[in-house]
Amino acid sequence: MTEIRNKKISIIGAVRSGIGAAKLAKQLGAVPFVSDSGSENKLKSSIEVLKTEGIDFEIEKHSDKVFNCDLMIVSPGVPSDSEVIKKAKARNLKIISELEFASSFCRGNIIGITGTNGKTTTTSLCGYLFNECGKKTYTAGNIGLAFSEVADKVKEREFVSLEISSFQLDLIENFKPKAAMILNITPDHLNRYENSIEKYAQSKLRIFKNQDEDDFLILNKDSDLLNQYFTKAKSRIFFFSTKKKVTNGCYLEKDEVRFIKNDAVEFSCNVSDINIKGEHNIQNAMAVIIAAKIFGLDNENILKALKSFKGVEHRLELVREIAGIRFINDSKATNVDSVVVALKSFDEPIFLILGGQDKGNDYSMIENLVLQKVKKIYAIGSSAEKVFNYFHRKVKTEIKKDFNEVVNASLSEARKGDVVLLSPACASFDMFDNYEHRGKVFKEIVNSK
Ligand code: ADP
Repeated sequence: MTEIRNKKISIIGAVRSGIGAAKLAKQLGAVPFVSDSGSENKLKSSIEVLKTEGIDFEIEKHSDKVFNCDLMIVSPGVPSDSEVIKKAKARNLKIISELEFASSFCRGNIIGITGTNGKTTTTSLCGYLFNECGKKTYTAGNIGLAFSEVADKVKEREFVSLEISSFQLDLIENFKPKAAMILNITPDHLNRYENSIEKYAQSKLRIFKNQDEDDFLILNKDSDLLNQYFTKAKSRIFFFSTKKKVTNGCYLEKDEVRFIKNDAVEFSCNVSDINIKGEHNIQNAMAVIIAAKIFGLDNENILKALKSFKGVEHRLELVREIAGIRFINDSKATNVDSVVVALKSFDEPIFLILGGQDKGNDYSMIENLVLQKVKKIYAIGSSAEKVFNYFHRKVKTEIKKDFNEVVNASLSEARKGDVVLLSPACASFDMFDNYEHRGKVFKEIVNSK
């Protein structure tokens, strides 16, 4: 980044990353101005920080003042096609993402992780595993710390495991991760990309646009859309696949996960050594194993970390086992796709808790899996009736008022070895503040029994 001292910097978005960027800008001698169209109520804690830090800001609008700047920084949650960005573009302002801004002050090795699904899990596994293997690593981006909060603290030999959304990649110029991962590309967030899957895919592929021969690119061989739109990269490519053998990267040989480089197997472990369950998590782990091997981490330590990583809260999280019945919190599963992944992750009979705020769900996508694996559905929330109407002729289905009723019923109906799975396929706002709140309430009730 060129000198920013005394430069006027407008920052769009006053949540974690925006605040982080404003603090970093101020610390480096620039004059930040933060603007967020959200309500005062929603931004209470941000407002407090901005006041304490003495940073100028506005809320509930983007006034013309935001355009009076030398540089505009956009927070991760702000779509690149939003009105305020369009207007700034029309005025030929220099606009970059918070990712671009923060990374220009980072001297350490960035491991950038993007994809439609699995970013949070993979980013936290990567951060955890690298630290367990003795490499000081910050976990940042959408999870953990905002990148701007840590960027200038990372030393040359240290690492950042960084979760990156595609909006962030739309507004990069020089961002150049030492290692980049694209976990998968599936049609999601399409509304933000003029319904063009190609635009959405191209935006994710930007993660390696500045990489060169000394950098590494880790790609999912099984993701059709990724392979369809991938053209070429200067960096060294490693693939991972749970379906076929690869020549450089990770693949499955029966139940063995292997890392292979130039025809030599350099690391292997059993699928059961990976503590987070499901095929999707094998893929996430494979991406991290590749990164670990690229940076020369020790095999024994890698294995130990894979065995001990507990996963991320609210994603197929084991809450507790009561009388041999396992209660699983997958509150993050706010769409039907995630429920597919969840159902595939268990061989045991499942009592499935479905429902919440419906987003136009098409339950035919899970019907076959439900018929194969689910003993009973408990339908909850504002879409309980829709769930009931769709399923009750196909599988035992019952409407329940709340989690307390669900957990009580499951304790008397489930048997040893069964799984009670909260994977609701719906948003949570009918009954809760957000999916984290929903998961927390579920866990509290399970833990109170
Ligand atoms: P993100 O941060 O990209 O939303 P998470 O790690 O929070 O990803 O996982 C969100 C949901 O996506 C999980 O509940 C799971 O259902 C699903 N998921 C996780 N990893 C993968 C993967 N590699 N492929 C497909 N789906 C996945």
